[in-house]
Amino acid sequence: MDHLQKIYIEPTTRCNLRCETCIRSVWCEPEGDMDWYTFKKILESLDGLPGPKTMAWAGIGEPLLHPQLPDMINGAHERGLRTEITTNGLLLDEVLAMRLLDAGLDQLSVSIDGVTESTYEGIRRGASITTVVENVRFLYRMSVKRAKPIRIGIVFVAMKKNIRELPSLGEIARAIGASFILVTNFIPYREDMVEEILYRVKPNLYESLGTPQFPLWIWPNMDFNSITYPPFGQVMSAYSNISFLDFYLGARSNYCPFIHAGCVAISWQGQVSPCPPLLHSYTCFIRKRPKLFYHCEFGRIGEESLSSIWNKDDFVSFRARVRSFDFPPCTDCGGCDLSETNETDCLANPFPVCGDCLWARGILRCP
Ligand code: SF4
Ligand code: SF4
Ligand code: SF4
Repeated sequence: MDHLQKIYIEPTTRCNLRCETCIRSVWCEPEGDMDWYTFKKILESLDGLPGPKTMAWAGIGEPLLHPQLPDMINGAHERGLRTEITTNGLLLDEVLAMRLLDAGLDQLSVSIDGVTESTYEGIRRGASITTVVENVRFLYRMSVKRAKPIRIGIVFVAMKKNIRELPSLGEIARAIGASFILVTNFIPYREDMVEEILYRVKPNLYESLGTPQFPLWIWPNMDFNSITYPPFGQVMSAYSNISFLDFYLGARSNYCPFIHAGCVAISWQGQVSPCPPLLHSYTCFIRKRPKLFYHCEFGRIGEESLSSIWNKDDFVSFRARVRSFDFPPCTDCGGCDLSETNETDCLANPFPVCGDCLWARGILRCP
């Protein structure tokens, strides 16, 4: 299946916070907001496409800073699209909350990376956990009063420094009406953050039956408690070839969550990329190895319609290549000169190559 299903819009690259995990701490691109002309062109070009069902406002930057965000949501809602935003939640005052509900917002994911003030506010510099919880609770309660409950989610970026607080997130989830908690790893953009990662075990490529070198561990359903967790934890931290209730835990390795879900991402300037991670160029650390990812675009809104960009031969063939994941295993291999960027690889794939993508390994997740 290769229908466009979901459009990620980056409404702005401005932000009201200075999170220590953010790409913005090492970034030098100019900041800006998507103009109304570009957004209108995106909406108009939906006429030429059969499938899109969801529009999500996310990306680098805080969507609530865009003064026309409620109008954008309303425009998509009136076209029958499901509407979602991901936000830090700090600017969600009562007036804005009511405007978002009036606009027809269906889902709000709020980033909460800690439960105590010291942890949360140490990571999300400039934010207040109390204010964010009150803001989202108000939005949820008002939506319930209107008999159209909004779907609330929490996004938790897990690191060594905050993972202990994860179990307490259940209380916050109840307080704000959250129906899902999405835990993702983080990607270090600065060398001093690399020790915070929680994914040192190699993701592996040796599926199904296993091999003598990579035996398959077949795990049954059982309680996770103080008796079972220590041995299970030891197995999990030493091996990655594990099947749990016939679900192979590595099944989403070499699986792009964006391409398989029929997504595109559109930057504030109208550049159309295959996924949010390729909207911008940046250096990050794949485990301890620095890597420069160049941004990738297949066209620009305003110059071409979304449908003509989506149907371009090079974009279609790129999506097919990602679905079959014909990329060498750079993340496992450990790196060579070619893996310093995403320009090519040892199979001579053309730009962009995805063998080092942590989203495709199930390590990073987005709502
Ligand atoms: S709220 Fe998001 S965009 Fe803003 S600084 Fe934090 S991580 Fe970056
Ligand atoms: S595998 Fe990674 S880089 Fe490649 S399209 Fe998917 S998310 Fe983007
Ligand atoms: S491109 Fe380099 S790092 Fe990637 S798999 Fe090939 S040899 Fe290994």
